[in-house]
Amino acid sequence: MAASETVEIAIVGAGVVGLATALRLVADGREVLLIDPNEPGSGASFGNAGTIAEYACMPVGTPAVLRALPKLLLDPDSPFSLRWPALLQLAPWLVRFMRQSLPAATRANALALAGLLADALPAWEDMVGEAGLEDQMRRNGCLYLYRRLSDFAAGAGGRAMRAAFGIHQEVLTPEEVAALEPGLPATAAHGVYFPDSINVTDPAMVMRRLLGAVSARGASVKQAEITGLQVEADGVQLSG
Ligand SMILES: Cc1cc2nc3c(=O)[nH]c(=O)nc-3n(C[C@H](O)[C@H](O)[C@H](O)COP(=O)(O)OP(=O)(O)OC[C@H]3O[C@@H](n4cnc5c(N)ncnc54)[C@H](O)[C@@H]3O)c2cc1C
Repeated sequence: MAASETVEIAIVGAGVVGLATALRLVADGREVLLIDPNEPGSGASFGNAGTIAEYACMPVGTPAVLRALPKLLLDPDSPFSLRWPALLQLAPWLVRFMRQSLPAATRANALALAGLLADALPAWEDMVGEAGLEDQMRRNGCLYLYRRLSDFAAGAGGRAMRAAFGIHQEVLTPEEVAALEPGLPATAAHGVYFPDSINVTDPAMVMRRLLGAVSARGASVKQAEITGLQVEADGVQLSG
């Protein structure tokens, strides 16, 4: 970055977080510069599952995960694997993860996530209008399916916590699942339906539209990688 460049607000990283922040700021008439070494919206925001999951307040670390940890670590097909030669280096992180998976920490983390997610749907609805995203939104909720009754039972803690936070969820019997989704193979157990959740058809297209909306309202984009940040009396100095 040129040392002399001065801007009211610089946003480092032009993924969905940077672009959504920029959209809100330019709508308030602020001067915004987005900085990213890559094409805006080409990071994780480009190819995710596209669920606006206001219900997803359960953290990854929970007592159920803690109990399953030995099995998860030994199963080569498990979604949680470790590079064993790096075990010593990873040990402090693992210890922190295990502590955060205890019941009290899980509850505190879920509460914090629920607070962050509480505005997700109205905030997206604002962006839908501002960035012309209506054709990208599928408002048909999200359905969790459980093949085994034991898996459904293991999710009881999460369901109770979501209920306590007032998150809208409906427990469906196998018959109700079949009625909602007749194309599914017969399931042995239950489903949980989150009717308020929205799905984005094409996250990459949403990123392009957000970029178009912020650019049209005057935000600039600079291709650069930020490597340093210094807080000074009259602002923040970025270097890269
Ligand atoms: C497989 C998968 C599925 C997912 N499904 C969902 C889902 O259904 N629903 C959901 O809500 N979330 C989902 N997520 C998570 C979601 O994609 C991310 O939380 C979200 O995209 C993060 O946005 P971001 O703007 O923080 O990051 P990114 O989109 O990764 O953007 C970060 C940007 O910062 C830039 N950057 C990095 N370092 C620098 C630097 N030093 N200087 C300048 N720029 C820098 C990068 O180039 C990048 O463009 C999923 C993630 C994955 C991987």
